[in-house]
Amino acid sequence: MAGEEESPAIGIDLGTTYSCVAVWQRDRVEIITNEQGNRMTPSYVAFTDNERLIGDAAKNQVARNSTNSIFDAKRLIGRRFSDNLVQSDIRLWPFKVIEGPDDKPLIVVNYKGEEKHFTAEEISSMVLTKMREIAESYLGTTVKKAVVTVPAYFNDSQRKATKDAGAIAGLNVLQILNEPTAAAIAYGIDKIGNGKSKKVLIFDLGGGTADVSLLSIQDGVFEVKAVSGDTHLGGEDFDNRLLKHLVAIFKRQSRVDISRDARALRRLRTACEKAKRILSSTSETTIEVDCLSNGIDFFSTITRPKFEELNMDLFRKCIEPVEECLFEADMDKSCVHEVVLTGGSSRIPKVQQLLQEFFYGKELCKNINPDEAVADGAAVQAAVLTGMGNKKIQDIILYDVTPLSLGIQTHGDRMSVLIPRNTTIPTKKVRQYCNTADNQGLIELLVYEGERPRSSDNNLLGNFTIPITPAPKGDAKVIVSFELDTNGILIVSTVDKISGYKRKVTITNDQWRLSNVEIERLLQDAKRFKAKDDHHMKVLDARLELETYAYKMRKAINDYSIYSKLRPKDHKRIKDAVQEVIQWLSDEEGVDNLELYQDELKLLQRLCKPISPLIID
Ligand code: AMP
Repeated sequence: MAGEEESPAIGIDLGTTYSCVAVWQRDRVEIITNEQGNRMTPSYVAFTDNERLIGDAAKNQVARNSTNSIFDAKRLIGRRFSDNLVQSDIRLWPFKVIEGPDDKPLIVVNYKGEEKHFTAEEISSMVLTKMREIAESYLGTTVKKAVVTVPAYFNDSQRKATKDAGAIAGLNVLQILNEPTAAAIAYGIDKIGNGKSKKVLIFDLGGGTADVSLLSIQDGVFEVKAVSGDTHLGGEDFDNRLLKHLVAIFKRQSRVDISRDARALRRLRTACEKAKRILSSTSETTIEVDCLSNGIDFFSTITRPKFEELNMDLFRKCIEPVEECLFEADMDKSCVHEVVLTGGSSRIPKVQQLLQEFFYGKELCKNINPDEAVADGAAVQAAVLTGMGNKKIQDIILYDVTPLSLGIQTHGDRMSVLIPRNTTIPTKKVRQYCNTADNQGLIELLVYEGERPRSSDNNLLGNFTIPITPAPKGDAKVIVSFELDTNGILIVSTVDKISGYKRKVTITNDQWRLSNVEIERLLQDAKRFKAKDDHHMKVLDARLELETYAYKMRKAINDYSIYSKLRPKDHKRIKDAVQEVIQWLSDEEGVDNLELYQDELKLLQRLCKPISPLIID
C-alpha cells in the first residue's frame, strides 16, 4: 500500500438517494464502479441481526427489513426534529426517527438485537466510508483525502457536519465543494484555454434539492457569480405526488386505505419512482404491485400528461431559483451562454421544456452526465488541490460564493452586514464600530446570518463579549473582522483600537446554525417582510439621526468657544433640551413611530439654531 503522500485524492458526490465516487487518473476522470459494477451507489445503510450493510446490499434487502434500512439521511442533516418538513418526511419513512437532545433528530434501528440511535451525520459517514472503500479497492491503495460535495445552499453547520462525517469515515476532507460548482468544472474542463469568457448557468435538480449557480468560466478560472436554490424541491417530491394519486386510486379500486401502511407505501413509492423515470422517455407506463395490501394486487397506468398535471406547480417552482440567481448576479437571461443540466430529475421533459422556454427557446446543454458530473468535478478539484493533475488542470482556480449575508448586531437591533450574500470566498471583511454609550466597558458581539435588516429576525450564530477601553460615546473604536474560508467556515476577530486588545473566535456552535430549510424560510421572510423592514429601517435611521444630532449638540454646547458666545439663559435652555432628548432616547427601547423621531429632531434643530453657525464639523 502506498503512503499518504502518494495516495490519490478522490471526489465524492454524497447524494440524497445515490452517491458517486471518481478519481483523476491518466489525465482524465475515472468514475469508479462499485463491487456490483454500478457507477452509482445507493446512499442506504441497513442494520440486521448480524451485520451492517451499505449501498446496493442495503437497498436490495429493504423489502425484508424496511424499519432498519436507512436512506435520505441528507434530508435530515442539520435540521431540527420539530421542523415541519422533518415531521412530514418522518410520516413517509418506514424507519423510526425520535427527538434527541437539542431537538436533534435521531434515527432508531435494531442492530444485532439491540436498539441503537444514530444521527444523520453518522449515517452519512457510513456512506462515505463505503465510497472510500470502493475507491480503495479499485485503486489498490489506501485513500485518505477527498473532496466532498454538498448543495450550494448547505449552511455552515451542514458543511461542518459533512466534513465531520468525512473524518469519521477516515477521510481528510480537502474541501467541501458546492455541487453545481463541481458540475461546472466537469462541464468547463474541456473548454479550458480557449480564451473566451462564458457565462454558464448550472441547473441541478436532484432527489431532494434544486440548486442553481451562475458562473463565469474563462481560461481555467471558474468564478461563481451567484447561487440560489430550493432546498426542499426534487425528485422525491414528484414521487410523493404520484404516490398520493395512486393511493387514492387503490382506495377507489379496493376500498383499502394504505395511507398509514408503511410497508405498502414503501412498495408503491418504489414503483412510482420507477414509473417516473420511465415517463421521461415514454408517454405512458404501467404500475404493478403484487399483494399491495390485504392480498389485493395493484395495477394502474399513468400517462406523462397526468404525471405533469400532478406536478405542474412543483415544476414551475423549479424556475424560481433560476430567476433569483440571475437577479442576484444582476444579469439578464439573454447574457447566459450555456444552460447546463445536472441532477437526475433534470431529465424530466416538462422541466426541460419550462427551462428552455424561460431562456427564449435556447438549446439546453445535456452533454454532461447528470448523475456523474458532480463527482467528476469533485475529482478534478481533488487532483488540483493535491497537485496530482496534469498541465491542463493545474491552472484551475475556483472562486465560490457564500449563500447568506453575515454580520453583527449594532445599535437598535440593526444588522450590520460585513460579508454580503453571494460574496466570493475565501474572503475577509473588516469594519470599525464605536461604543454606543458613554464609558461602556464591554461590547457584546452578536454574530448573525440572514437577509433581514433587523438582526433579531436573522439567525444567531454566536455571541461573545469583548472588553473595550471606557471612553465617551463614539470615541472607543473596535475593529471587527470576518474571515470566511473556502469551506464557508467563519472566524471572527476583534481589536480594541485604544488598548490593542485582540480576540479571535471560530463560530462553532452548531446548535445555533440554521438548517437549509430555515435558510430558505429566512430568505422568503426577507422578501415577504420587505415593506415592513423598509419602514423599520426608516424608523431606525430617524432615531439614529436624532441621536447623532443630540450628541453633536451636547459636545458643542460644552465647548467654551460656543457657550461663551451665548446668554446663560439660552445656554441652559439648549443644554437641558439636549440632555432631555439623550435621556429620552436611552430610556425608551425604540418606538415604532417615524414621525415622533422626525418631530423631535425638528424641534431640537429649531432650539439649537443659535449655535448651529458656530459649530465647525
Ligand atoms: P440525484 O440526487 O442527482 O442523484 O437525483 C436523483 C433523483 O433523480 C431521484 O429522485 C431520481 O428518481 C431522479 N431521476 C433519475 N433519473 C430520472 C429520470 N430519467 N427521470 C426522472 N427522474 C429521474
